[in-house]
Amino acid sequence: RFVNQELEDTNRGVVALYAELEEKAERLREANQLKTTFLSYMSHELRTPLHSILGLARILLARLDGDLTPEQHKQLELMQGAAGDLLGMVNDLLDLAKVEAGKTDVHVTTFAVGSMFGALRALFAPLVTNPDVRLVFEEPRDVPLLTTDEGKVSQILRNFIANALKFTARGEVRVSATADPAGGTVRFSVQDTGIGIPPADQSRLFQDFAQVGGAGRAAAGGTGLGLSIARKFAELLGGRVGVQSGPNAGSLFYADIPLVFPDTPEVHTPEPDD
Ligand code: ADP
Repeated sequence: RFVNQELEDTNRGVVALYAELEEKAERLREANQLKTTFLSYMSHELRTPLHSILGLARILLARLDGDLTPEQHKQLELMQGAAGDLLGMVNDLLDLAKVEAGKTDVHVTTFAVGSMFGALRALFAPLVTNPDVRLVFEEPRDVPLLTTDEGKVSQILRNFIANALKFTARGEVRVSATADPAGGTVRFSVQDTGIGIPPADQSRLFQDFAQVGGAGRAAAGGTGLGLSIARKFAELLGGRVGVQSGPNAGSLFYADIPLVFPDTPEVHTPEPDD
């Protein structure tokens, strides 16, 4: 009887503990939900005035060009650059809030990797200002057409490429795509010859707001959201991301993306009770 009583007590204890943990988990879920809602409202509201600042700076630069001293011209350009950076961060926050809330739409189209690379090349050409760094897009070989969200894949690569350029003082940033027909995926890779990432930091990189410390990084700016957005977008498309790197050994960031978006209606086989 004594043993039975003790067992019963333990049982009751476990049940109570379980209920308490459940309640705590529920409160955490609510807090997380609030955070997501806040992030999404805030970033949405911040975008409108930022667009005004950017637009007005652009108009001033265009209209006043002849009347500005070189110093004033430079200052307006700095203002435009800073507002652009801020808009980038606000857009990151909004992207993150949307994926977390499950409100990210997936727009599936069929497209060629080569043409997406062309668009990225044009986008980044004016941003590669360091003469010691080359940005190279390899011509994709034997990569079939993709049927997925081109905007999301492009965003993943934009985040990888922007980081690679930020952390590479000389050498090259090489973007490539290789098909894995057996896996039904394409591996997009962005390889740089930059400062690299210590193994101990690599597992944290893809988490929200994670910035890893170390020489040459403090002044780089950013929100620590770029890689976490890349991961969430890749997962949204049924894929995954990864990194291979070492200190001073450069970094390789990759995203494996299914050739066909898993939920594409054309390939959807209805369940018996669909
Ligand atoms: P951020 O917006 O701060 O760059 P990310 O999520 O894009 O945030 O990156 C997180 C951190 O990962 C960066 O702060 C940087 O320390 C490290 N990192 C990312 N890409 C590279 C790279 N190509 N080379 C070296 N470090 C990198």
